[in-house]
Amino acid sequence: MKTRILLIAAILFTAFSTAGNARQKPRITILATGGTIAGAAQGAASASYTPGVISIENIIESVPGIRDLASLDGIQICNISSQNMEPAIWLKLLFTIDSLFTNNLADGVVITHGTDTMEETAYFLNLTVKHSKPVVLTGSMRPSTSLSADGPFNLYNAVALAGSASAAGKGVMVVMNDYIFSADDVTKSNTVNPMAFSSPNLGPLGYMRDGIPVFYRAPLTRHTVNSEFVISRDEHLPQVEIIMSYAFSSNIAIKALIETGVDGIVLAGVGHGNYNRDIAEELEWGYARGVRFVRSSRIISGGVDKAAEEFDAKYPVAGLKSPQKARILLMLAMTQSKRSSEIQRIFDEY
Ligand code: GLU
Repeated sequence: MKTRILLIAAILFTAFSTAGNARQKPRITILATGGTIAGAAQGAASASYTPGVISIENIIESVPGIRDLASLDGIQICNISSQNMEPAIWLKLLFTIDSLFTNNLADGVVITHGTDTMEETAYFLNLTVKHSKPVVLTGSMRPSTSLSADGPFNLYNAVALAGSASAAGKGVMVVMNDYIFSADDVTKSNTVNPMAFSSPNLGPLGYMRDGIPVFYRAPLTRHTVNSEFVISRDEHLPQVEIIMSYAFSSNIAIKALIETGVDGIVLAGVGHGNYNRDIAEELEWGYARGVRFVRSSRIISGGVDKAAEEFDAKYPVAGLKSPQKARILLMLAMTQSKRSSEIQRIFDEY
C-alpha cells in the first residue's frame, strides 16, 4: 500500500514538474517576411534561387529541436525579397509586435527577413518598438534547399536568443552565423558568404553557443523604451533619399531630388563626409527650400563628426551611422522637427 502511494506521488510529481517546464518555456512568435531563408533553388549547389517562397510553418519544421526551446507561433507578414521592403510592412511589423507584447501574448519576437535590407528594418524597429522584450531578426545567405543551408541554425539561435532573459532591454538585435549584433551598428558586409554581417565600428554584442547567448556589451544609445519617436498606424514617413559622392560627382541627381520636393537627403560623402563644390551649391539652394541634409560617409567605419573640413559645418552629421541608418533616423527626426540643431541633437543621442 505504502509503495503504491509513493508511486502515485512520484507520477503526480513528474506530471506537474513536466507541466511546469512546459509553462516555463518562453512563448516566441516568429514574424516571417521572406528572403533567402524562405528561398528554394533547383539544385542543392545552385547559386541561383527564388527568395520568399517557403512558408513559415515549413521553415519551423525544418529546424530540429526548435520546439524544445520555446512554445512557437508563426505569422506570415509577407513573403518578399527584402529589396522590395515597403513602409507599410515596417508599420505592420511594428504594430504586430506592439499588440503581441501589450496583450502579453509573447515573451519574445523573431523576424525572418531577407538579408539585403535586414539592418534597415532592424534599425527602424529599434527606434520605434516601445517594449524591452527581445526582438531578434535573422535570415540566411543560402536557400533552404542548399547543401549546407544556414537558415535552420540561424533560426534556432534567433528563437533561443529571443527566449532568453539576458536579451531583454538590449534593443532590437540581429543574429547571423552565431553572432549577436545590435540593430544600431549592424550592416551586411559580404554579398555571398554566410558570415555576411558585421558591426564595423563597435563589434558584435556577443555570440550564441549551445542555444545560450554570451553577451560582452550592450548598447548605451537611446532605443526602444527610451526612444522619443511615437509612430501612428497611418504614419506617413517623410521622404528621405541618399546621394553618394565620388570623384567629380555631378549635381544632376541631387538637383532632381530637391526639385521633386523630398523632405531630406543624406549625403554619403567621400572620406569624412566630404562632397565637391557643385554639390555644396545645391545644398545651399535646397536648404533654403526647406530640404534637410545630414552628412555621413560612404566609408564603412569611422563615421562623420562635427570637425568639418570645408564649407559644410552647418549641416548635421551622422556620427557612426551608415548612410542607410542615417536615412531612417532623419526620417524619424523629421516627424519631430526640421530645425538643424534639433536634428543634430537626435543624431547625438541615438
Ligand atoms: N535579395 C533577397 C532579400 O534580401 C535575398 C537575399 C537574402 O535574403 O540573403 O530578401
